[in-house]
Amino acid sequence: MKRMAFFVPFQGCGRRCVYCDQRAITGASEMDALTPDAVKSAARSCAAPVELCFFGGSFARIEPSLMESYLEAVSLAPEGSRVTFSSYPGDFEGAGGARIIETLKKYPIGTIELGTPSLDPLVLRVCGRDDDPVRVKGAIATLRDAGFRIGAQIMIGLPRQTPESSMRDIESIAALMSGRPGETWDLRIYPCLVLRGTELESLYRAGEYTPLGLEDAARRAGALLLAAARLGFRAIRVGLLESASLRESVIAGPYHQSFGELALSEKLALELAGASARDEPWEIDRSRISQLTGHGGRGIRRLAELTGIPAETVRKSLTFRPEGSRGEHPLDGPGATIQ
Ligand code: SF4
Repeated sequence: MKRMAFFVPFQGCGRRCVYCDQRAITGASEMDALTPDAVKSAARSCAAPVELCFFGGSFARIEPSLMESYLEAVSLAPEGSRVTFSSYPGDFEGAGGARIIETLKKYPIGTIELGTPSLDPLVLRVCGRDDDPVRVKGAIATLRDAGFRIGAQIMIGLPRQTPESSMRDIESIAALMSGRPGETWDLRIYPCLVLRGTELESLYRAGEYTPLGLEDAARRAGALLLAAARLGFRAIRVGLLESASLRESVIAGPYHQSFGELALSEKLALELAGASARDEPWEIDRSRISQLTGHGGRGIRRLAELTGIPAETVRKSLTFRPEGSRGEHPLDGPGATIQ
């Protein structure tokens, strides 16, 4: 189904997370507030079912009548359309959360993407998030039990975050998904960047925060992608959407316009390193060649490093399946929204 994205920068956000600048990320300004009429008119113009997506804020915390006005737009789109949005897990807690859930049940909701940058209490506190792991997991379970499909947005390279804690986070979220056999949840992985004007910029300039280097970030993202595939997630994006406003705002951190491809090359190198090529060649889909050869042969070099086999021998040990056989993962297949 075609997706139509609307940005509601910082709408519903109770506070500002230290790393966040939605104006830079989405290119939308708080001054150009999205009107329900604009959404309705866009919905009315669709010829086929569409997924109306609201990103850049905490949708369920938007003032209720405004939130419902946005939701009502879906009734003007062709039958079968639905609404997907991102929100803060805490939005769904307690009596207020129960009211929001009752409201949402009146509309066709596609996926509720939850901001779950970390489940480590120290990381959450340093990042200025007002939730804790128990509450985040509680919110996920509540939405799951209410029948909603979940998406998780996790981050790497946050202050005080370690590769081990990221891996624990993704496993904890997967454990909640396992309560819904046969279901896959969407996953987005974003590297933490130092954006101009954020509190993180102050921490960085004061020497209190060191961002990940590009290679380190690619390695962490690749390892998480591999784990995500094993745990049953559908990874739909790695890296922020490339835009002029983002490019101009990045002060430091693992920014690369093809960050998703670097992460995929790491994932494939890890996958192949786990299968010995000493006695027989590695066989991969032809569609994935660029994951090994792209970016100056990064994947081949990494596979050589992981296995201790010289890069030239690695090259000779690869055979390719014909076009048409794709990777098992959406990020490896056609139409993937990788970056
Ligand atoms: S990360 Fe999410 S909740 Fe935090 S300020 Fe940005 S949009 Fe709001």
